[in-house]
Amino acid sequence: MARLTLGGTDLSVVGRTRIYVCGVTPYDVTHLGHAATYVWVDAVDRVLRRLGSSVEVCRNVTDVDDVLFAAAERAGGHYDQFAAVQQFRFEQDMDALAVRRPTHEPRAHVFIPQVIALAQTLLDRGAAYESAGSVYLPAAPVVAGLDPAEAERLLKEYGGRLDDPAKRDPFDQAVWQRSDAPEPAWESPWGAGRPGWHAECTAMALSTYGSSLDLHAGGADLRFPHHAFEAAQAEAATGVSPFARAWMHVGIVQLEGQKMAKSVGNLVFAKDLLAETSAGTVRTMLLDRAFDQAWDYTPEVLQQAGARLDALYAAAGTKTSSDSAWEQVLAALAAGLDVPRALDIAVEEGGQVARDLTTLLAL
Ligand SMILES: [Zn+2]
Repeated sequence: MARLTLGGTDLSVVGRTRIYVCGVTPYDVTHLGHAATYVWVDAVDRVLRRLGSSVEVCRNVTDVDDVLFAAAERAGGHYDQFAAVQQFRFEQDMDALAVRRPTHEPRAHVFIPQVIALAQTLLDRGAAYESAGSVYLPAAPVVAGLDPAEAERLLKEYGGRLDDPAKRDPFDQAVWQRSDAPEPAWESPWGAGRPGWHAECTAMALSTYGSSLDLHAGGADLRFPHHAFEAAQAEAATGVSPFARAWMHVGIVQLEGQKMAKSVGNLVFAKDLLAETSAGTVRTMLLDRAFDQAWDYTPEVLQQAGARLDALYAAAGTKTSSDSAWEQVLAALAAGLDVPRALDIAVEEGGQVARDLTTLLAL
């Protein structure tokens, strides 16, 4: 049995671990925020494997999305073709960062029938309502217990279409959204439309793993509303709770205190860093910290990671080391993925322990 704790949750697994991580919307180059999420998922994948679990990772492709349609239009191409090219570039970046390929890579645009089935199930169970060609999940049960001001701020930032007059409550989230030309649209029992963002992930996760999964990962900015609604509609559709046994919300990467985002224009691209330093150094920078804390990228942080990795490599060339030190390294990783402590032990112990940690974390 593999035993791992994450964010205070005991994630003991017998045999298989089912991991789902929200993938990218393929319209842009991979930035450090993306890299952090997928390198951390890669780390938990590798650690669980080392602890004896057979791990499956499902990383979806959100290729049905407003920002993607808009970007494709600006580039003058069909969105499907545009998404395929962007997705290929993203996968090249993931390969360059030594992120293992996912076991499952569902694409939203081929899961339209499953989203329609999800919407129909939610309607049949009385958990959603249909209005003017769209199907909505009521927000009230999902936001209950949250700070109302914070919930409102996040829904305004990520909730989309708050002014949609078909909603009973502006914060309700579309499971199925009526489409108005010229957006891409698919036929449904409620007319032409397309999936809601949260519903895409729910449909792909349920289709891949059944009614629940072991670990759901994603950037910390997806915690609400995306993950909250994704889980709520999965649980309402299946009756199985919790949808995810554990959550891994990877800390936001900032530049001068501000979240890295295309809309802000403060992106640091993974490929630019990889042009000047090794994947091991970038991975060390991303992993040598608490996974759930926001942090600021600076060139100095990257330099420090390079020095840290040099120390590990130097230690790896020294004397042979003890089994007990390796057990301590594994214990540190199993206790909330404490990579800083695992690195400290490996650098101090050196020898085989340092070599094994280098291999385990692909540094
Ligand atoms: Zn998602």
